Amino acid sequence: LVELAHVEKHFGSLHVLKDINLQVDTGEVLVVVGPSGSGKSTMCRTINRLESIDSGVIRIEGEPLPQEGRDLARLRAEVGMVFQSFNLFANKTILENMTLAPIKVRHMPKKDAEDLAMDLLARVGVESQASKMPSQLSGGQQQRVAIARALAMQPKVMLFDEPTSALDPEMVNEVLDVMIQLAQEGMTMICVTHEMGFARQAADHIVFMADGRILEKDDPDDFFDHPQTQRAADFLSKIL
Ligand code: ATP
Ligand code: MG
Repeated sequence: LVELAHVEKHFGSLHVLKDINLQVDTGEVLVVVGPSGSGKSTMCRTINRLESIDSGVIRIEGEPLPQEGRDLARLRAEVGMVFQSFNLFANKTILENMTLAPIKVRHMPKKDAEDLAMDLLARVGVESQASKMPSQLSGGQQQRVAIARALAMQPKVMLFDEPTSALDPEMVNEVLDVMIQLAQEGMTMICVTHEMGFARQAADHIVFMADGRILEKDDPDDFFDHPQTQRAADFLSKIL
């Protein structure tokens, strides 16, 4: 479903992605881990074209990513993204946050968009908050809304970039539970996270990145119990 082949990316003289090769099949959950600055966020951002690439190719369902314009908007509709900071529109209600893109980009009738929004808000357990403003919700609730909002576009794949790392500890699990449920429902997911319990439970594969390179791709149990590289072993010894 998602394929990166020989992807290279520089920020000026900084070589941030080095020969990245990756494949994620439909329904798979890929967890990306690695030290700070290793290029995890940048890799995620290239997949919905928030960042351009210098060379190589990224394909979704076999089609290379569009470079600009209309096609880019369509691409963004197909690739949902949830960030560390919740990125909800602060001056719109939760329901408006949910319906904006489906109405604008998908041309969904308002009533349909609202019905879908309420279904999704119920799925993540915040339907009672629909008429509130984002600032009236807890961090965990806002992040669950952000996930529901991405789902409202009916994406083919969901990207998560450290979705729980800005949350107070007691709210981490309510967000991870939503992600685990999504994974079980068969959503294709690429998740950057330091939540190793989640990784073990939900991941089909773990990718370990360091210095802009993918050093390992393993099943979770293999990765945690028998990392193949010293870099990964050192990384695990620091976070586990
Ligand atoms: P973290 O775990 O801290 O989130 P990361 O693995 O997500 O790290 P990236 O954010 O992808 O790492 O950053 C990779 C490298 O690229 C870092 O050295 C970072 O400073 C640099 N970088 C990221 N974004 C930009 C940018 N827009 N311009 C210049 N350099 C950038
Ligand atoms: Mg990052």
